[in-house]
Amino acid sequence: MPARMMSIDLRSLVLMSGLMGLLLAFMTFFLRLSYPRSIRGLGLWAAAPAWVFLSTLLFAGGGIFPDFLSIVVANLVILTGVICYHAGIVRFFGGRPAWSLWIALLALMTPPLYWYALVEPSYNARLILVCLVWAGIFLSMARWIWRQGPATFSARFTAIVLVVHAAVLLLRFFSAWRPLAEEGLFTPTRVQTLYVGSNALMLLALGMGLILMAGDRLRAEFEHLASHDALTNVLTRRVFLDACEQELARCRRHGRSMALLLLDIDHFKAINDTHGHQMGDRVLVDLVGRIASLLRRPDQLARFGGEEFVLLLPETSQEEAITVAERILAHVAEPRDGLPPITVSIGVATNRSDEDRMDALLARADKALYKAKDEGRNRIEVA
Ligand code: GH3
Ligand code: MG
Ligand code: MG
Repeated sequence: MPARMMSIDLRSLVLMSGLMGLLLAFMTFFLRLSYPRSIRGLGLWAAAPAWVFLSTLLFAGGGIFPDFLSIVVANLVILTGVICYHAGIVRFFGGRPAWSLWIALLALMTPPLYWYALVEPSYNARLILVCLVWAGIFLSMARWIWRQGPATFSARFTAIVLVVHAAVLLLRFFSAWRPLAEEGLFTPTRVQTLYVGSNALMLLALGMGLILMAGDRLRAEFEHLASHDALTNVLTRRVFLDACEQELARCRRHGRSMALLLLDIDHFKAINDTHGHQMGDRVLVDLVGRIASLLRRPDQLARFGGEEFVLLLPETSQEEAITVAERILAHVAEPRDGLPPITVSIGVATNRSDEDRMDALLARADKALYKAKDEGRNRIEVA
């Protein structure tokens, strides 16, 4: 019988997949310890393969342990693992896992599992139930990742793994309706081998995909930290200047204009001295919020120094830039509860066709700002 010769020992396969899950659980657990707490869900992703491992011990004891343990409890344990994966994904994306729903599902699954294990034993009946429930959970996970996840390799890979596994589960679901003969978990028919093999492989691939997703999230957080000011969350000087260089090159190619606004709070030292440094910080954060509320999408705001900010306005003429500066001046002067009143001085510069260096543009904006300070502050100057 060639088909028999090709067959894999499914009990060993189940045990092996459990052991790999245990390894995955350890790795994810140590990631959880070393990654920042802002990356959520890792604890559940570590717990999930640990539950799976436990279930494989119980499943593999089929025929040795009582059926209640190797079937009913084993199924509930592995379902808990799958639920942990789902809950971890929800948490990773900032949601709250629906724990009461999951507990209800476990409770609802118990009587039919018990019935078809001990009262009227039927592997196919259990399969129909388990495959359908699992496929639903896997598709829900894929949906979360596809909708919330960034278009990165790790997110796409994980979502595809989930969909492929759900397809295998549905295939097994349909095949279980027409059993040739009553089968068992370890009966190595072709469809059963595919089902058990897919469970082993896909749970491993899922765990790895999730670890990659956490790594991508970590990188994104570091990139954000490196490119954004910690207090005001606007761009830092280096990233901003890179963006300006790119915009300037674009202007040169297409003969467009861009504007730079250099902005400095007037007598900010006095604010710190009178109201304290903390209030000074709040004023800075508030100022950024006010400026940002006036900006268009392509505009970029950066913190250049303590209380000095710079604004890049792409495709903006000098007149338009002055209008924006006037709006900022007016909006900043509006009183706000709990904050001391402030004014700002703004230096405006736009690119000239005969001069295409970023530092020259910046130097002109700086000169204009100095002039605004000299001329009495709370005003705009153009250079
Ligand atoms: P001018 O109108 O000439 O700009 O006067 P000024 O007092 O605003 O200018 P100056 O550059 O002398 O003072 C800037 C002050 O900004 C000094 C510094 O203590 C304060 N500062 C710089 N960074 C921060 C910060 O992150 N938080 C707070 N609260 N204060 C800061
Ligand atoms: Mg100042
Ligand atoms: Mg200053």
